[in-house]
Amino acid sequence: ALRARMEERLLAARFRYINQQLYTSTSQEAARLFQSDPEAFKIYHRGFAQQVERWPENPVHRIIRYLRRRPASLVVADFGCGDCKIASSIKNKVHSFDLVPLSPLVTVCDMAKVPLAAESVDVAVFCLALMGTNLQEILEEANRVLKQGGILMVAEVASRFEDIRAFMNSMAQLGFKSVSK
Ligand code: SAH
Repeated sequence: ALRARMEERLLAARFRYINQQLYTSTSQEAARLFQSDPEAFKIYHRGFAQQVERWPENPVHRIIRYLRRRPASLVVADFGCGDCKIASSIKNKVHSFDLVPLSPLVTVCDMAKVPLAAESVDVAVFCLALMGTNLQEILEEANRVLKQGGILMVAEVASRFEDIRAFMNSMAQLGFKSVSK
């Protein structure tokens, strides 16, 4: 039992370390990290799932509830989809992007460069996935694939923002209008 407890602690520490790495590197570096160390991805995802389970609400469920209230004809792009909870919970066409395929629904790619035509989606989602330091490039990519008047949804841990107002201002400069915060 002691050994199991210690192993659990090591895995939790490794998760926190990888999570921090993802928030402090560019999306290209994150892609290289997971390519060179597939074990890191497994540990990361296990830790992520355990952490989110302890929260009072998982934001992905809120996003799913929102999408279910909107027309099923809307095309969705899920940037950093993880285990594709969105694609497997709604009827809409969902493009699911991640660095490693946790599910057959995933298209493997760096979210800064997704294989979608310009102005091809109605809703772009970043659920706990806006991690790369090159977030301007990533959000420009979301802007590129979104149709005019499309919706961008971002769910992120509040403590990850140094300055939410500055973030909102930068979003406005990128062409996004705040509809709800
Ligand atoms: N959106 C999912 C998973 C969030 S975990 C959910 O809410 O359940 C963050 C996800 O972003 C991980 O699966 C990680 O692999 C992915 N990710 C991180 N950087 C990425 C990048 N540069 N390109 C694509 N996916 C990335």
